Amino acid sequence: MEQLKQAIQTKGTVLANEVLKVDSFLNHQIDPKLAVAIGKEFVERFKSETITKVLTIESSGIAPGLTAALELDVSLIFARKKKSLTMNDDVYTASVYSYTKNETNEVTVSKAFLEGDDHVLIIDDFLANGEAALGLAKVTEQSGATVAGIGIVIEKSFQNGHKKLTEAGYRVESLARIQSLKDEKVTFVEEAKVTN
Ligand code: 5GP
Repeated sequence: MEQLKQAIQTKGTVLANEVLKVDSFLNHQIDPKLAVAIGKEFVERFKSETITKVLTIESSGIAPGLTAALELDVSLIFARKKKSLTMNDDVYTASVYSYTKNETNEVTVSKAFLEGDDHVLIIDDFLANGEAALGLAKVTEQSGATVAGIGIVIEKSFQNGHKKLTEAGYRVESLARIQSLKDEKVTFVEEAKVTN
């Protein structure tokens, strides 16, 4: 997705440990027009699938999840990283290890919002080792619902998340695929193919 790749190239910064900072348009300040375009692109890519719910994880998945859900005219659920005070024990949970924060969170979704006949599109901002997406898939499947696909805004293709998810049988669509963050430079997968 060209608009997204341009934003990454012009506004993203590469931190230590091959982490990309996109706080100015995705992770802290949000570019609403880009978020809407991202939602539309996800819907276009998954147009052959039946989707009845969008599921993401707080907080950075909420903007792209919401715009996809709006375009699909279905509800968005965001998994919580910490159980909220108003949540009772009727929840689905999965443990998710966060690579960037080096901590494990118990992600939680209320049983009230996922039904066995739901077809769920999972959305997240980044794909690295696939932990967050696998946790969301686990929560979905605990309810008996089907994972319709996994939509990722930025995939770090040099990590093994994409492989893990496809090997587990999920369809993954990533809007920007990063081949490398070496030398503080962002190289996308397509560019790498051309120069090789
Ligand atoms: P995974 O669970 O696939 O290992 O990592 C995905 C999660 O970690 C995302 O939800 C995202 O919050 C965070 N993450 C992983 N890599 C990056 C990165 O390079 N930049 C940012 N901003 N977040 C990342």
